[in-house]
Amino acid sequence: MQFTELALSEEIMRAITDQGYDAPTPIQAAAIPVVLAGHDLLAAAQTGTGKTAAFTLPMLNKLRPYGNTSPSPARHPVRAVILTPTRELADQVFANVQSYSKYLPLRSTVIFGGMTMDPQTQALRAGVEVVVATPGRLLDHVGQKNINLGQVEFLVLDEADRMLDMGFINDIKRIMALMPAKRQTLLFSATFSPEIKALADQLLRHPEVIEVARQNTTAENVTQLLYKIEESQRYRLLQKLLKHHEMKQVLVFTRTKQTAERLSRQLVKDRISAVSIHGDKVQSARLEALAAFKEGRATVMVATDVAARGIDIDQLPHVINYELPGSPEDYVHRIGRTGRAGASGAAISFATPDEEKQLQGIEKLIRQQLKVGNANELLSAYSNNHRVSAPLPTSRPLPSSALALIPGRAGRPREIPALFLPPKQAMATQVVIAEDSATTATS
Ligand code: AMP
Repeated sequence: MQFTELALSEEIMRAITDQGYDAPTPIQAAAIPVVLAGHDLLAAAQTGTGKTAAFTLPMLNKLRPYGNTSPSPARHPVRAVILTPTRELADQVFANVQSYSKYLPLRSTVIFGGMTMDPQTQALRAGVEVVVATPGRLLDHVGQKNINLGQVEFLVLDEADRMLDMGFINDIKRIMALMPAKRQTLLFSATFSPEIKALADQLLRHPEVIEVARQNTTAENVTQLLYKIEESQRYRLLQKLLKHHEMKQVLVFTRTKQTAERLSRQLVKDRISAVSIHGDKVQSARLEALAAFKEGRATVMVATDVAARGIDIDQLPHVINYELPGSPEDYVHRIGRTGRAGASGAAISFATPDEEKQLQGIEKLIRQQLKVGNANELLSAYSNNHRVSAPLPTSRPLPSSALALIPGRAGRPREIPALFLPPKQAMATQVVIAEDSATTATS
């Protein structure tokens, strides 16, 4: 998608060009039309996704008719308030608002605590359309009658999850009570925790919901691994991974609807409970497949990229890229299905020599080389179907060698990394699985 397709004004387009942006980021492409259409919005996006422009650009576009150069404060009532948890973020957002509005006759200012109120008071009293603020200081100004929120049309809650964590909920409610009920509210949060959902239920009216993975980078708590394989090894490797590591809930991606359907049928034939969702399935069949997967009746859900968009499954432990996606961005979307809300996850990709180009595109986008696992070792490791069925004691301590493999984890890992080790170490690490989910470990 191009910015020109987003129906933004010429002044805003010029400001975007000045920034040197080539194309909208995914959150911008998704959010801008929604905001322009006047909907409330609940968006999950972290810093680094381009989220600030995602709300600022359409907001400025809608405020554009109010722009004027009159010196009278009465001609510049506050039309938009952007609340942020910290002064640093407020400053950063304000810098963005300034850049994007530089060709528009709209005024903006930033107010936060930790500094004298006077300059802020002056700016507010002179009249300003857009105010970026931290909640406490905004209320201080309300208390001193420096600001009137009676004509606000836009409210943005940026990093709402952090604002909740920092105890701003009552301040936010007080601020909202001072605004007209008829307004557009946009809520951005890094995660959709139950608390955020509850807040959204209270504050938003029929919101559109958008969720994107971070652009050009991938969630830190997702362990990524690549197996370089031949075409003939693809299915066998998938079977190995599923069976011998006792994966309980795996989202498997294929590039085409045909492969998705064929693969799920083959898995069922091989007695692995699998469902599929793709564009050739009617909505009811997709919903049924998704329900079976969510409820644990199906271990594997095979999906195409398009069909998987918008699927929200909490803490999905594994994603397997059976085939690499056509576009590198889809890789980020795919692996964004796992490792959510701070949970750890594993994303495993298969790549044949024919997929080398896609692989290069992905590694360029995420700015890292994927760690390569030894497919042959894994394929031959259990060739005699050797399994030990006796459960390991659940109290057995986790070997430190296993913990070391879990990036950034100090506590108890939920599942995984066994897959990423050669078979010998893998045996030890699988205790993790037994410990946490009380399932039978294998060696
Ligand atoms: P944010 O997630 O809003 O903090 O933005 C992260 C960074 O991405 C900022 O430095 C923005 O200037 C930059 N950015 C925002 N939109 C785009 C875009 N469409 N293309 C390239 N960079 C962008």
